[in-house]
Amino acid sequence: MKALFLTLGTAATCMLISCGDMSGPGRDAWGHRPGPQGFRTVILDAGHGGHDSGAVSRSTGQKEKDLTLDLVKRIKNELGLSYKTILLRRSDHFVDLDDRVVFANRHPNAILISVHCNSGPSGMRGPETYYWRVDSHGLAARCQRAMEKVSPVESGNRGMVRRRLRLTRNPEIPCLLLECGYLSHPAEARLLQSADYRQKMASAIAEAIREQSNRGDAGTGPLPPPLYAPLSRPTDAPE
Ligand SMILES: [Zn+2]
Repeated sequence: MKALFLTLGTAATCMLISCGDMSGPGRDAWGHRPGPQGFRTVILDAGHGGHDSGAVSRSTGQKEKDLTLDLVKRIKNELGLSYKTILLRRSDHFVDLDDRVVFANRHPNAILISVHCNSGPSGMRGPETYYWRVDSHGLAARCQRAMEKVSPVESGNRGMVRRRLRLTRNPEIPCLLLECGYLSHPAEARLLQSADYRQKMASAIAEAIREQSNRGDAGTGPLPPPLYAPLSRPTDAPE
């Protein structure tokens, strides 16, 4: 299921934003700083779960919630023991999006990656990466590049997108939402059905995470401009 409807907010929400104590040079609560380097804690969020199946492939019957859980476990294995990897859910149960954010915010030196599979118009396929914060741009570029190398065909998808979602705007740490492919595309759904393909995708994402930790934003292009916007709320319209 696309996360497009989880966006936007009202000006009034600005008044409720806590700037907190984001210690360290160049840091601010909005994430207007270069991307992280040297981090060792990675929070992996398997999208959906429990009563919320997410997208369901009409051709293979696979549910997004099952694929995302499989993918985050594979990413965790690929990262190995050099990283402390925390799974936001380890089984088939639902976790409220705001609770996922609250949990992530307990780990100020971590990054958060929420893993999803996409659904959209017929013909659209390929991976997409959503980010909002400036400090998430480099990691987003690395993850999108990595997924594109695994995905055999790109068609009509949006690539890397700066979008204010609850899991890209609201966490106080660098964060991304990855869409690993379109379950609505029959050929891509068949690919995602393959454990070998999911392993390649997970391995590529893990390598992008390692590269970000080792090199920071080096080689990922100029940082995007700062943006100021209120927290994203479930009642918000897409932006
Ligand atoms: Zn989803």
